[in-house]
Amino acid sequence: MLYNLTGILSSEEKVEKLTVPYEHETVSNGLDSYKILEKSDLTLTLANKAKGEVEAEGEISLVCEIPCDRCLKPVKVPFSLKISEYLKESDFEDPEKMEEMPFIEGFSLDTDALINNEIIVNWPMKVLCKPDCKGICKVCGKNLNEGDCGCDTFVPDPRMAVIKDIFNA
Ligand SMILES: [Zn+2]
Ligand SMILES: [Zn+2]
Repeated sequence: MLYNLTGILSSEEKVEKLTVPYEHETVSNGLDSYKILEKSDLTLTLANKAKGEVEAEGEISLVCEIPCDRCLKPVKVPFSLKISEYLKESDFEDPEKMEEMPFIEGFSLDTDALINNEIIVNWPMKVLCKPDCKGICKVCGKNLNEGDCGCDTFVPDPRMAVIKDIFNA
């Protein structure tokens, strides 16, 4: 949702509380999109702190489906996002400052972009179906959590392969 900030920026000490749905069915980490399984609404408090300055604080929880980094099994990954931004009207015309605030459009706050921004900041370093996930076999593709496949997973040293070629020539 686009929320026009003009009113709150100019009304000293005004506080607005909003409940806004997140309008997306997927989330993105900038590379790929993943399905959202559950989501709450965004609760957002906008508080005028001084002329032209607004503090935005909010919360939203999502549960997304992201494949395990090792075996690709879908994993339910919860996100509990806490949003805290200090918005200054004087920054809105500074292109450098605006690069860090992709959720400001003119004098409006794009609540979906605000959430997207927070999702990227909170993206997990690793997604694993379980801490000791064994991954998939590089030879046959079997999920090694379901048992050993018996493949020879020895990867020859590429330098040794060159020597072998010389001898085979
Ligand atoms: Zn896994
Ligand atoms: Zn295998």
